[in-house]
Amino acid sequence: MAAVKSDIEIARAAKKKPIAEIGARLGIPADALAPYGYDKAKVGADFITSLSDRPDGKLILVTAINPTPAGEGKTTTTVGLGDGLNRIGKKAVICVREPSLGPCFGTKGGAAGGGYAQVVPMEDINLHFTGDFHAITAAHNLLAAMIDNHVYWGNAENIDVRRITWRRVMDMNDRALRQMVASLGGVANGFPRESGFDITVASEVMAILCLASDLNDLERRLGDIVVGYRFDRTPVFARDIKAHRAMTVLLKDAMQPNLVQTLENNPAFVHGGPFANIAHGCNSVIATRTALKLGDYVVTEAGFGADLGAEKFFDIKCRKAGLKPHAAVIVATVRALKMNGGVRKDDLSAENVEALQRGCANLGRHIANVRKFGVPVVVAINHFTSDTDAEISAVKDYAARHGSDAILCRHWAEGSAGIEELAEKVVELAEGGQAKFQPLYPDHLPLMEKIEIIASKIYHAGEVTSDRGVQDQLKTWEEQGYGDLPICVAKTQYSFSTDPNLRGAPEGHVVHVREVRLSAGAGFVVAITGEIMTMPGLPRVPSAERIFLNDEGFVEGLF
Ligand code: ADP
Ligand code: MG
Repeated sequence: MAAVKSDIEIARAAKKKPIAEIGARLGIPADALAPYGYDKAKVGADFITSLSDRPDGKLILVTAINPTPAGEGKTTTTVGLGDGLNRIGKKAVICVREPSLGPCFGTKGGAAGGGYAQVVPMEDINLHFTGDFHAITAAHNLLAAMIDNHVYWGNAENIDVRRITWRRVMDMNDRALRQMVASLGGVANGFPRESGFDITVASEVMAILCLASDLNDLERRLGDIVVGYRFDRTPVFARDIKAHRAMTVLLKDAMQPNLVQTLENNPAFVHGGPFANIAHGCNSVIATRTALKLGDYVVTEAGFGADLGAEKFFDIKCRKAGLKPHAAVIVATVRALKMNGGVRKDDLSAENVEALQRGCANLGRHIANVRKFGVPVVVAINHFTSDTDAEISAVKDYAARHGSDAILCRHWAEGSAGIEELAEKVVELAEGGQAKFQPLYPDHLPLMEKIEIIASKIYHAGEVTSDRGVQDQLKTWEEQGYGDLPICVAKTQYSFSTDPNLRGAPEGHVVHVREVRLSAGAGFVVAITGEIMTMPGLPRVPSAERIFLNDEGFVEGLF
């Protein structure tokens, strides 16, 4: 048997078409594209505005069961399904997030799909791409610099420097920067205070860029950012520091969606990349809306498992952007189901139908949960070579007993030819008129009640607990007019509970809300359960040790 090619080898062999040709297929005129080289382009704001009266295509969400640490192939399946829909004659557009440099050089490697279901140019997409993340980093840090500068020149807004909540960001995993004391070195350097860095994808600016409908909305939301509190505890906004307009200038190009192509030359928007814990974890609203105007089908991905990713996609992104998904694909893998059934990571390649059947409870709950939003579901079994026939039939049987089809997909190994059956099924679901999308809870409920609804209906928790401080904080925000915001839960992705080791489908567990944060510009309240990392660290052996330029000048090691 020939050696299995790495993602990067497959990507490098792609026969790419000029990006203008990909744009033309969607009816984007050449003068509405700002090309970044041969194979990437940004779509102009005027052209996007001109589409507003067109009807929308059908929106398909790709989500997953609770994953293994390696990921279950949501991005791979999103890309594969987009290619599959094009293969069966549909005009389909893919919408995924931009990868962050942190995980790329840390543990996860690239995030542009895998095998024969990838978006290209893979190296560029995984590295600096069109500079969006750098622009977001600069805009975020401009605000940080202007806050300290404001204090330095007399602090007219009366900011309590101990209560400045706006930190700095960079797009790298660097635990050394998590906590620090800034402004050391004497009078000329300002007032020393504790602060630190987060990774760029955790920046509220990233979440804002991904939820804003256009540049005006972006500027308004940037102005709404709460950067800290005065001595009288009233919030200080970015607009009080007069930073929001200059930030918008830095973000004007980053706001425009990036068009690229799949290995099979189908169109894909790769735009925005908010963290899936303290933010909502989906690509930008502007890219999704543009794709819906240009294609008959739009396939998009939400981060983590469906308890986090799909819930936030529905309750934050779709609710706020007025999007109406037509169907959802839940990606399951035999190995992750076995892990949910108690198998250890090192034993995943051995057949174990019994553990798999136990783990299927996890799948069953995700199926039922997604249906609570009025969205019809199909399960995609993302095929790994170690899967056995008995294991695959067990998943199919289980899904059938839960009223859903589970379809074996071989897009990773075969590209679009391996995922036709899923594409046909998605069309059937989307055209069937079954979708009646509705968010899980209405806007007007008290913030704590919204958290309780998510915990009981999606996580099957028995109780939500929190300290008095958290409850008082939520009440204060309600009094200040933030009560209508949706909730963004930060929780482990490995379990329905807050304990990453409690796999399967736990019931009656306790969800403790440790902390709440207001993202007033993005428009949600973050409820933090358990430890949450906004600046990841590198592992003992980071991927960066294996990333290098080969003798021909090509990048190696971005697997
Ligand atoms: P997610 O989006 O769920 O985090 P990805 O699509 O990024 O997952 O895939 C994670 C990794 O798994 C990638 O390196 C990808 O190449 C690999 N992968 C995905 N599907 C398969 C498969 N069927 N067989 C082998 N490797 C796969
Ligand atoms: Mg992904």
